[in-house]
Amino acid sequence: MMKKYDYLIVGAGLFGCVLAYRAKQAGKRCLVIDKRPHAGGNIYCETIEGINVHKYGAHIFHTSNKMVWDFVNSIVEFNRYTNSPMANYQGRLYNLPFNMNTFYQMWGVTTPAQAEAILAEQRMDVQKQMHGREPQNLEEQARLLIGNDIYEKLIKGYTEKQWGRKCSNLPAFIIKRLPVRMTFDNNYFNDRFQGIPIGGYNKLIDGLLDGIDIKLNCNFFDEYSLQEKPDDNKICWHEIAHKLIYSGPIDEFFGYRYGELRYRTVSFETTIEDTPNYQGNAVVNYTDREIPFTRIIEHKHFEMFGSDLYNCPKTVISREYSTEWQPGMEPYYPVNDADNNELADKYRQLAALETDIIFGGRLADYRYYDMAPVVEQALNIQI
Ligand SMILES: Cc1cc2nc3c(=O)[nH]c(=O)nc-3n(C[C@H](O)[C@H](O)[C@H](O)COP(=O)(O)OP(=O)(O)OC[C@H]3O[C@@H](n4cnc5c(N)ncnc54)[C@H](O)[C@@H]3O)c2cc1C
Repeated sequence: MMKKYDYLIVGAGLFGCVLAYRAKQAGKRCLVIDKRPHAGGNIYCETIEGINVHKYGAHIFHTSNKMVWDFVNSIVEFNRYTNSPMANYQGRLYNLPFNMNTFYQMWGVTTPAQAEAILAEQRMDVQKQMHGREPQNLEEQARLLIGNDIYEKLIKGYTEKQWGRKCSNLPAFIIKRLPVRMTFDNNYFNDRFQGIPIGGYNKLIDGLLDGIDIKLNCNFFDEYSLQEKPDDNKICWHEIAHKLIYSGPIDEFFGYRYGELRYRTVSFETTIEDTPNYQGNAVVNYTDREIPFTRIIEHKHFEMFGSDLYNCPKTVISREYSTEWQPGMEPYYPVNDADNNELADKYRQLAALETDIIFGGRLADYRYYDMAPVVEQALNIQI
């Protein structure tokens, strides 16, 4: 006799895990399944040389939502990591986001007034060249917003690598604003809270899944059916649970009946380096077009600070390459252009008709979400 769960949760990512935790707190029983060999979805870390390596890309938790921050901290404490990426352009280093340190490195200016004057002059030059007309592409838009120097050195090459297209062939709307800080503040996020779980993201996932049944290497579509009476050897999900929580790709759920949604993806080249400190920072962006990768992540800096770095004699780095997504690759970023949004809307309308199924998370919503909004979404669903 099969066990009857209250919820069958498809996807052991952050969304599925927070819901499983809340369901258990509410006295409900759930089975969490994931097609991957591990739980955690994209926040999963692999330990290499004693370092937690962010296997699916660097993840920094940040939020201004106190409810979300208190919730994740009730599962695991967070460290004091503050994201302050550097940019490397032709061997010279610049602080990000654009702030007084960047302007000092770029122009040698030491006061906000001096920096404002140069920015204003550069913007004016671009306006003159464009004779007051609207920007026609991303290149013109960025130069209008920030002037030539920062565009050429810190935006152009990086953006072209990210999108695999020239900035002059990308639409202007991609860059709406380019915030500048007239203070010496390298903290990338404006949020009130940020950090990395002490002991790594797997601690957060393990804490959320404590005492919950989980089945890995289990693809929902291979083992369960949406039909009441499946004609193959699958079983109807209803036989094992009252409700289904689905956080996989929404187009796949509906058998791609309107067509496939597109994604952008990133590939990683991860190596172990025989030095305790390779680049002195977790994130260094390579903004030069000639260097094929977009950034190098040095994972130990997320969790080891000061002299602690040297207790671990090696380091692990990942070079990131922006890659065009092909079926079978990890779907990382939704392509929220008009065609894909329209397609996603059609699938969302189908999802809204399902009464026993809760859809959520980044793949089922086909939206780019940071971790905090995913936690918030999962905290707000009525269990
Ligand atoms: C490269 C990259 C960097 C990021 N950096 C940050 C950052 O710095 N800060 C931040 O806040 N956020 C960041 N994010 C966003 C963050 O990863 C997401 O917000 C979060 O992981 C979403 O959780 P989720 O549960 O919705 O999705 P996922 O983590 O994708 O989990 C979905 C799970 O469902 C499983 N699944 C799918 N289909 C099936 C099926 N048919 N059967 C069984 N299982 C299935 C998948 O295997 C996966 O484990 C980043 C994302 C990417 C891609």
